[in-house]
Amino acid sequence: MHKQRLGILIAASVGILISFLPSYSMDGENINAQTWLILVLFSIPLIISLIGKNGEPLSKRMFIVTIISGAVVILLGVFNIWYISSLNKMYKMTEREMQVFKNLDIPISNTEINIEFGLYFMILAAIALVIVSIKTKEKFIHNNNKPQELNLMSSKRCPYCAETINKDAKKCKFCGEFLDDDLRRDKEIYTLK
Ligand SMILES: [Zn+2]
Repeated sequence: MHKQRLGILIAASVGILISFLPSYSMDGENINAQTWLILVLFSIPLIISLIGKNGEPLSKRMFIVTIISGAVVILLGVFNIWYISSLNKMYKMTEREMQVFKNLDIPISNTEINIEFGLYFMILAAIALVIVSIKTKEKFIHNNNKPQELNLMSSKRCPYCAETINKDAKKCKFCGEFLDDDLRRDKEIYTLK
């Protein structure tokens, strides 16, 4: 297995496991609202690492999809941290406000949402996924280069008209000249007659 595929496979697997860990908690209860989305975003690179030729690095398209998947997880994670902290700030009651509720005998719960380790680990796994994909990246092999190389190996240049012809050709298809010595001699004898 190519080291790029192996790295992506490990990072994506860790990400999938982490997506089952609690991301937030509220009133002592764990919440994991985005499991399915994170699961999908880590499953895409996991599948990509397993499809195609095992010994070769990812194609340009698959590489881009992997990087985007990782980047979306990072953005989602960072956004969630920002969103939760702004929610907490918004709902934070002052001592005086709390006292008003208590005086009115209205039960109030602590609405503060805590960010759990799962959310941080999720971001770290996504960062690892992106870094490992870039670090192990090789120059992309363009598919249209391969047939050209094959062409060069199986072709030659006609010594009479300089056109590219099949390596095994005995007669040039462009100028009609014989490339085989025996055939040339036969043709010369024939024309002399
Ligand atoms: Zn020729």
